[in-house]
Amino acid sequence: MANRKNHLSPQKVYKPKRCWVGDTHKIIYDTYEEAELAAEVAAYDHDPTVKLKPYKCPYADHYHISST
Ligand SMILES: [Zn+2]
Repeated sequence: MANRKNHLSPQKVYKPKRCWVGDTHKIIYDTYEEAELAAEVAAYDHDPTVKLKPYKCPYADHYHISST
């Protein structure tokens, strides 16, 4: 008998490294340093005048970067 794929099992589902913060689907960084580095890289890639800042996610134990 074929195992029915249970996509509703929360513990088995791999969570992508992103989370919803307000209306934004944000990339998750495990450490502040990682977010800081990503912010620097993003600044070079996009607009150096836009200040990107790492911050602790209010919902979980990880970090995001924000331009605000
Ligand atoms: Zn988050």
